[in-house]
Amino acid sequence: MDEVRQHKYVLDESEMPTTWYNLVPDLPSPPPPALHPGTLQPAGPEDFAPLFPMDLILQEVSQERYIDIPGPVLDVYRQWRPSPLFRAHRLEEALGTPARIYYKYEGVSPAGSHKPNTAVPQAYYNKLAGVKKLTTETGAGQWGTALSFACALFDLECEVWQVGSSYDAKPYRRLMMEVFGGKVHRSPSELTEAGRRLGADPKNWSGSLGIAISEAVEVAATNDDVRYALGSVLNHVLMHQTIIGEEAILQLAKAGDTPTHIVGCTGGGSNFAGLTFPFLREKLAGNITPRVIAAEPASCPSLTRGVYAYDFGDTAGMTPLMKMHTLGHDFIPDPIHAGGLRYHGMAPLISHIYELGMIEAESVAQTECFSAAVQFARTEGIVPAPEPTHAIALAIREALKAKETGEETVILTALCGHGHFDLAAYDEYLNGRMVDNELTDEMFAAALATIPSVPVG
Ligand SMILES: *Cc1c(COP(=O)(O)O)cnc(C)c1O
Repeated sequence: MDEVRQHKYVLDESEMPTTWYNLVPDLPSPPPPALHPGTLQPAGPEDFAPLFPMDLILQEVSQERYIDIPGPVLDVYRQWRPSPLFRAHRLEEALGTPARIYYKYEGVSPAGSHKPNTAVPQAYYNKLAGVKKLTTETGAGQWGTALSFACALFDLECEVWQVGSSYDAKPYRRLMMEVFGGKVHRSPSELTEAGRRLGADPKNWSGSLGIAISEAVEVAATNDDVRYALGSVLNHVLMHQTIIGEEAILQLAKAGDTPTHIVGCTGGGSNFAGLTFPFLREKLAGNITPRVIAAEPASCPSLTRGVYAYDFGDTAGMTPLMKMHTLGHDFIPDPIHAGGLRYHGMAPLISHIYELGMIEAESVAQTECFSAAVQFARTEGIVPAPEPTHAIALAIREALKAKETGEETVILTALCGHGHFDLAAYDEYLNGRMVDNELTDEMFAAALATIPSVPVG
């Protein structure tokens, strides 16, 4: 091969963006506010104060378009940021597609995913506020790993409730958290009121993100010097991730390309928001016209099969009510491998822009995801985490369409983490033990019935 192809678009540390982007002020209508579960009035900063430090609460409700990233946070980011943008030449060739496929790789972070982008600022702001300990939940273990790492840097204690099925299946994730100094419990646990109550029902023994959140929130809400950290869903978390998209804009400019399709996987919505919100800003400004598509698991399809309603963020019903696409806070998804996507709700901000028609969504079943992942690994050399395999599968669908239609197609996706701790899932796939369970409407009905009814207006 004589032609010299560029595979990687990198930025110098000095080119790293120094602000996060807030999509809210650019929207045609504001997202509905969170509600206090008792009064059903819009929740004020004081309702969040037992859980979060004021700096993060202010970011949660901010109307500023750009927020400066604090120096100590930039300093940590520089350890692995700017992250690389790759052109998937070999995958394109294997697909025989004229489409150009780019992926922004977040697996280069110390935790192996995009999660440290928000774990680091959350630990930083809590430290500034004098907090001693952070509690959290973790699904697949990536968020618990990221927060344990961030807490170690800022000298905070970190206590993590890991979803039971993931705790049992991923001992190396737990060990990684422990290496960083995190204290890990299997959820549901005996340590909290919520864990004891929900754990009494066998249907809850495998755990869920909703249950683990209840446990972590309870401990934070009942201890003065303890706060809670959430790895997705909330506005401030989505905003911290926008550094992904801001870097990608600069990198694609170096590649001289403009995306026609941006696809990302959605669990709570943070890596998707991080990649897409800066591009949506450009789209709203009339500069670009990409389709923006969320890829969600067929077994936990909050956007494509959930309802848009006020619901609790956790299973015990302790959080403020948030208007979001939800399968019901009682919904216990199948223990699929993409543990990070097993959340009953979708970020209120993502749900809102989905309602506004600014983004689309498609669901993908596990086996299609792993088939895509294996093809990706064998061409690009990176083993993806189970979550971004959903985005890769959608990218491949679009690339194959381009082959039929011949339409100019430039696909951008976020490879938001590596799968080095998820090889048991690959084992299942490669050895023919992975199945797709068809979910009927009846299976959703019971959990949907638990969504609280909130009078309109
Ligand atoms: C946590 C996680 C997700 C799901 O969370 P989002 O907030 O939707 O990004 C997806 N991929 C990876 C690698 C994760 O760690």
